[in-house]
Parts: sequence; C-alpha cells; structure tokens
Amino acid sequence: MSALILDGRSVTKKSEEDLRSRVARIKELSNGAVPILATILVGNDPSSATYVKMKANACTRVGMDSLKIEMSEETTTEELLAEIEKLNANPNIHGILLQHPVPPQINERQCFDSIDLSKDVDGVTCWGFGRMAMNEASYGSATPKGIIRILEAYDIPLEGKHAVVVGRSPILGKPMAMMLLNKNCTVTICHSKTTGLDKIIKNADILVGAVGKPEFIKAEWIKDDAVVIDAGYHEGGVGDIELKPLVNRVKAYTPVPGGVGPMTINTLIYQTVEACELKLAQ
Ligand code: NAP
Repeated sequence: MSALILDGRSVTKKSEEDLRSRVARIKELSNGAVPILATILVGNDPSSATYVKMKANACTRVGMDSLKIEMSEETTTEELLAEIEKLNANPNIHGILLQHPVPPQINERQCFDSIDLSKDVDGVTCWGFGRMAMNEASYGSATPKGIIRILEAYDIPLEGKHAVVVGRSPILGKPMAMMLLNKNCTVTICHSKTTGLDKIIKNADILVGAVGKPEFIKAEWIKDDAVVIDAGYHEGGVGDIELKPLVNRVKAYTPVPGGVGPMTINTLIYQTVEACELKLAQ
C-alpha cells in the first residue's frame, strides 16, 4: 500500500486561485485598493530573508501588495516597537508579519504582542493564541493552521484520534496541540524532557513532528496506519521525521519539501485577505 501524499503545493495552488478572485473582488469594492501585508525583517539571517521574499512573492501571485521593512542587526526592542506601532496605525496595512527569529537583544515576545490583534495574520500574539485556544474567532499561528488546512483539504478524520505533537514552541507545537484539541483529537504534547518518546509515538494516529532536528523521529517508532505531518525542513531536503521508510506503509504523510512549508506561506496570505475583507465589512 502506498501512502496518500498530503501535497501542500497542490492545495496551495488551488487556494491561490480562490484568493486571486477574492482580491479582485476587494479591488472592485474599494476603488482599486488591495490587501497589503507588511513584512518586517530584522538582521542579516539569509534563511529569514529567503522566507520573507517567498511571502512577498506569494502576495504578488494573488494580486496583493506587500510592504517590505528591513531593519539592521543592531535594532533595539524600542525601535522595533515603534515600527510596529506605525504599521498598527496605518489604515492601508491589513496584516503584519514579524519574521522569527529576531536578533537576541530584542524582546521578541513583547514585539509580537504589540501587533494589533486585527492585523495579527501570522497568529503570534498571546491574545490571539488565547482566543484560538478558547475556540473563538482568531487568526491561527500560520504553520499549525496550515497543517489543519491541509488535513481538511484531504478530509483526514480527526475526531477521536490520538494526536501526538512533538515540540511545544509558541508558534508551532503549542498552538498545534490546541488546534487538534479543538478538532476533538485526544492530544499528547511531547518535548525535550519527555521520557519514553518512542512508546508515545507508537500510539499516534496523527503525528506532528516539530522538533527542529533532522530526522530525529525514527520511522520504526511510527505505526502503520498513522497520518504523519513533518513540519521540519533541513539542508538536504529532510524534515524532523525519517520519512523515506514510511512512504509504503503509513496512511498519509506530508513530503519534505512541498508539504507544510507552502501551507504556512499560503495561510499567512489567506489570513491577510480575510483581515482585509473583515475591515471592508465594518
Ligand atoms: P523550536 O522553537 O526550536 O522548538 C523545538 C521543540 O522541540 C521544543 O519544544 C523542544 O522541547 C522540542 N525538542 C527538542 N529536542 C527534543 C527531544 N529530544 N525530544 C522531544 N522534543 C524535543 O522549533 P520550532 O520553531 O517549533 O520549529 C520546529 C521545526 O519546524 C523546525 O524544524 C523548523 O524548521 C520547522 N518550522 C517550519 C515552518 C514551516 O513553515 N514549514 C515554520 C516554523 C518552523 P523544549 O520545549 O523542551 O525545549
């Protein structure tokens, strides 16, 4: 039996078609104005610069605009807060992305939390997380929300399933666990202090790997009919899970690359279009 490939590129392509027509409609209704995503890149990290560029390109593909803000490696928390404040106050900006991680002298949590809730399209604020956890209307953190969207696109049943999330970071593992709980999964969250990880993973119907270590989760720990989601991406095109031995035996899996990565970017622009539509409806 070969596994179902949860193809993030094809789900994204379809979503972009839909977003293009929603942006065209916004343009008609608002005298040519389009949704605008502000992207803030602080410092010189080349991977972060690539991610920001990919996000701006995705905006262009659906007819949206993006406003690129680049700040130096020496930026202080106060300077970054002042920039975010300006974007919060700018009525033409519908979403704000602060690319993670920022240089170590910056208080990242304080800066994330200063983003206006109505523009928190990357789902990084504590307030947004709280609303999401309470199952209230909110913008979900883009990577876990993208994972939920790909599971939905392939009609993967979630209710009553045992979901194991390996990783508990504020932007990935923790919100992922809450989103799966909201979908009526029974959720186990694992982290660096978890003991007996292999035995816990053996019981996973849905497994999410968000560890940040190449092929850390071994294929032999995973049961035959599991749905396997790999959020990791490392040099050489490998993720956080040893995927190769699984392709002929699990129920479904996200490839690396081409699984979770495209869904993250798509979810960011999807939520920016939503933010713009909400503003127009006010
Ligand atoms: P992170 O902040 O470094 O968090 C890693 C998590 O893994 C932590 O919660 C850590 O536990 C846990 N962990 C570390 N070693 C472990 C071990 N031996 N056993 C069990 N758990 C362990 O990373 P992140 O930002 O969540 O990212 C995770 C992965 O997703 C990375 O590969 C990253 O590249 C990828 N990612 C992809 C996208 C995308 O768009 N595709 C976006 C974001 C991240 P503690 O909390 O105990 O330290």
